Amino acid sequence: MAPRLSPQAYIDGVCAGDRMVLSRAITLVESALPSDRALAAAVLEGCQRRAGTAFRLGITGVPGVGKSTFIDAYGTYLTGIGHRLAVLAIDPSSEISQGSILGDKTRMDRLSRDPQAYIRPSPARGSLGGVTRATREAILLCEAAGFDYIIIETVGVGQSEVAVHSMVDFFLLLMLAGAGDELQGIKKGIMEMADGLAINKADGENLLRAQQARAEYETALHLFPASDSGWLPRVLTCSAIADAGMAEIAAMISDYRMVCTADGWLEKQRHAQAKTWMHETIGHLLLDQFYAHPLIKKNLIQKEIDVLEGKIPPTVAATQLIALYLQQTAK
Ligand code: GDP
Repeated sequence: MAPRLSPQAYIDGVCAGDRMVLSRAITLVESALPSDRALAAAVLEGCQRRAGTAFRLGITGVPGVGKSTFIDAYGTYLTGIGHRLAVLAIDPSSEISQGSILGDKTRMDRLSRDPQAYIRPSPARGSLGGVTRATREAILLCEAAGFDYIIIETVGVGQSEVAVHSMVDFFLLLMLAGAGDELQGIKKGIMEMADGLAINKADGENLLRAQQARAEYETALHLFPASDSGWLPRVLTCSAIADAGMAEIAAMISDYRMVCTADGWLEKQRHAQAKTWMHETIGHLLLDQFYAHPLIKKNLIQKEIDVLEGKIPPTVAATQLIALYLQQTAK
C-alpha cells in the first residue's frame, strides 16, 4: 500500500488535476480502515468547494448490452466537443466480468488513451454491480479535479440501479432489441427510473428490429406514471460499435438538462441526494462501529448460534446486542 499523504497534499493534488493524486485520494476514500477515516474526511472537506459542478450520468444495462463499448463511443464524442470526462467504470478483472461475458477484451480502448478522459475502475465484487459505498465520494473528488462530466457505469442487477439513481442527474438505460424484458433481466422498476432509453446494436441486420423496439418501448413508457421531474423519458437507438446515435443521445441529455435546470428540478434532486448521502453515511458509520466493537465481536457468534438453534428470536438477539453496545459506549 502506498504511504498516505498529508491532507493538504491530497487536496492540492486533486484540485490541480493531478491524476496520480486523484487515484490515491479515491483509494483513500474507499478504504475500510478506521485509521483512514479522519484523513478521508479532511480531504473531502478540502475538495468540497470545487465540487458539484459536473453533470453526472448513470449508465446501466445487462452484461453484454454494450455498456463499455457505448461509454467508449459516447465518452469520445463528449471529449470531442470539449468536455473533460471521468468514468467510474466496472473493473473487468473483478468477479462479475470474469469468464465468457467480457472475455479479455480491452474495455474503453479509445477513452483509455484520451488525455481528456480519466477512467477509474471499481470492483464489482463486494459492491452493488460496480457501485460502492465510496462512489459518491469518488464523484466529488473527480469534480474537484476539474472533470465537468462524470459517467457512472453499473451492471444491471437491480439494487445497483437504485443506488446509482440516487447519485446521478440523468439515468440512461441501455437495451437490446429482440430480447424480451424478462430475458434482459430488466425489471419494470428500473425502466421507471430511467430518464432515457437507448436501444444499442442498431446496426446491420438488427437495425429494423431496433427501430421497432424503439417504438414499442416508447409506447410502454407512456403507460408509466409521469416522473416527479415532469420530464418524459425518451427512447433512441444507437450503435456503439459504429459510433452512431451519439449526437442524438447528447441532444436528449442536453434537452433534459435545460428543462430540468430551468424549473429547478435538478437542484432539488441534488439536494435530496445530498441528504440521502448524509443519512446513508450515518448508517454505514454506525454499523461499522457496532460490528468493530470488541464486546460485539465477542458476543455476536453466540447470538447467531442461539438464533439458529431457535433459542431466541432474531429480533430479541438484535435488541440485546444493541443494548449491550449502547451500555458500553455510554460509559
Ligand atoms: P457490456 O458487458 O455491457 O460492457 O458490453 P460490451 O461493451 O463488452 O459489449 C458486449 C459485446 O457486444 C461485445 O462483443 C461488443 O463488441 C458488442 N457490441 C457492443 N456494442 C455494439 C453495437 O453497437 N453493435 C454491435 N453489433 N455489437 C456491439
